[in-house]
Order: sequence, then structure tokens, then C-alpha cells
Amino acid sequence: MKFKEQKKETVILNPMQNMEQNSILSEIRMDPLTGRTARICHFMKLHWEKPDINELVAGTEATCPFCPDKVLKVTPCFPEDIVPEGRMTSGDMILFPNIAPYDSVGAVASMGSRHYVPMTEFTRGHIQQAFQLAMEFFRRIEEIKHPEGVYHLINWNYMPVAGSSLVHPHLQVFSTSSAPNLMREELVAAQKYMQASGSNYWDDLVEQETVQRERFLGRIGRSTWLSTYAPIGIAGDILAVVDDVRCTLELTDRDLSDISEGLVRAMAAYDRMGIYSFNMSFFTGAPSDDFARVHLIFSPRTYFNQALGAPDINALRHLYNETLCMEFPEKINTMLKPDFSNH
Ligand SMILES: [Zn+2]
Repeated sequence: MKFKEQKKETVILNPMQNMEQNSILSEIRMDPLTGRTARICHFMKLHWEKPDINELVAGTEATCPFCPDKVLKVTPCFPEDIVPEGRMTSGDMILFPNIAPYDSVGAVASMGSRHYVPMTEFTRGHIQQAFQLAMEFFRRIEEIKHPEGVYHLINWNYMPVAGSSLVHPHLQVFSTSSAPNLMREELVAAQKYMQASGSNYWDDLVEQETVQRERFLGRIGRSTWLSTYAPIGIAGDILAVVDDVRCTLELTDRDLSDISEGLVRAMAAYDRMGIYSFNMSFFTGAPSDDFARVHLIFSPRTYFNQALGAPDINALRHLYNETLCMEFPEKINTMLKPDFSNH
């Protein structure tokens, strides 16, 4: 496994310093599995001023379809062959079909009756309960041997900055036979890696990063938490890899609890930087993919310019699918580490 990078230097004449010659450094990194490139550039202090979130949220509950007075009236039900009772519930959490599906088996799981949950108020138990409800849905899909029951995926877009159209916390829960782009690239590359080396890429990554330490965050149960070498997000990404687990349905309740705990810690760490939004996705293999390991990526989301509403995705990312991160992941790791080691 190779962590490759290419260092770059830009020379400018700086008008603020009598046109003195300044040198600006940047770096292009290659993801050790897929070769995907990520730029480390635009260095800035990773600190954002949070807006008045209460003001942002105020009034949105009036039209929110997931609030308790509306959720059972406006959300759809599954046909009898998928979920005979129509919707699935766990306490005040409700799982129902996604009215804007991107595959034939798509659900949304509202994470309870509370309309707005600040990022630092999610608990291990709260997230675990939502994940377990999603898992229950996936088991139904398995039981009926649905053809889409190959990859079972959970996505979380928390708050509008991360693309959520609603404030009310909810998960996107879907099963598909068509792996999304990056997951498919990873699966193909991990299979090649195993054919070439005889070992599992993810096991090797965990072993190497645990020894090397500069991107290691901590272990929770059998999940290992790392900063990614070539991040997708502008403030870095957190990767969690679960030992021995090839596909989503092999995750135990204990694993779900440990993953939830890691997410709580990630949220606390990024909250201190003024970030209040994130994307989280599960990546999984199919049941017999020995080269796969279930992992998830937590990627904080924010603005390039908050006052103007300029998002952290521009042409470079949107059209070239080239990512940039505004600090070295190893430096970001030192900012996150206290949350993962003081437990
Ligand atoms: Zn609501």
C-alpha cells in the first residue's frame, strides 16, 4: 500500500508586501485504494462562525412532513409484499418509502419526533436506534429475496448545508443492486488488491494506520477510526472500518452502537470548528465479497463563504469530481484526536 503525493509550488508577487515574491505550497494526494486524487490547498484556519441556527430553524416545523402531527398523514406506505404494516416504527422513529426514490427500494427513516436536534445533542443510543430500524428494514428486503437486496446503504444528510431538504433529522435507507460510483470503484479496486496481494485492503489499511498513528483516531469495539489520507470534504473526512464485516447485514447491534458512539465524537469535534452539518454514508460489499469491509465516511460540510451562501462544492468538485481539503489531514487529526482518546 502506497501513500503517494505530489508537492506543488506556486509563485506570486504579493502587492501587500511591495510585490515581494511569495511561494504558496499545495499537494495532490492519491487515494491508496482507487488512485482518486485529492488536493490539499487553500489553507485556512478551520474555524467558521455559526449562524443563529435557532433563527434558521424557526418556523420550519409548520410545514415539516416528519413532525408528529403530520408524519402519519402525509408520508406514504409500503405495499404489502414489502412491509405488510405499511410503515415500520421504533419508539417515535418511523420508516416509510422515500417519495423521491433513486432506486426501487428506498426508504426514509425519521429519527424521532423532535424537529430540530442540534448536532451535539445526538446520543449513541439515539443514532443506534435509527440504525437498527434501518437494519430491520434491510432484513425484510433479504427475507423476501428482493433482487435489489445486494447492497444495503444508509446515508445521512444532516442539515440543509449538507443537502438535506428538511431540518428534521432523518436517514436515507436504501437497497440496491447498483453500487454507487465511488463504492463500486472501491469494490473493484479492493478485489484487485486481494488478487494481487492475497490480503484484504481494509485490514492492511487499519493495520498500517494503527502502527503509523498520524491519521489514527481510536478504536471503539471492533471499529477503527481514521482520518482519510485523500479527503473528499474541505475540512477532512473521518473513516471508520469495522473488522471482519463484509456487508451491512453482518453488523451486530454492538457494532451499530460503537459506530454511533464514534459519530457522536466526530460531531463534538467538528462542532468546535463551527461546523454544524455533515454527510455520512455506509460503504458495503455484497455478502460474499471477502475483499470488502463495511466502512463509513463522515464528511463535515460548510461554506466557502457563509455570508453569500457559497457552498463548499464548486466546478472543481462538481464537474471534475476533484476534491480539495483546506488543511493537511494529519493536522486535522490532531484537532479531532482528543475526542477519540479521552474515553
Ligand atoms: Zn419536523
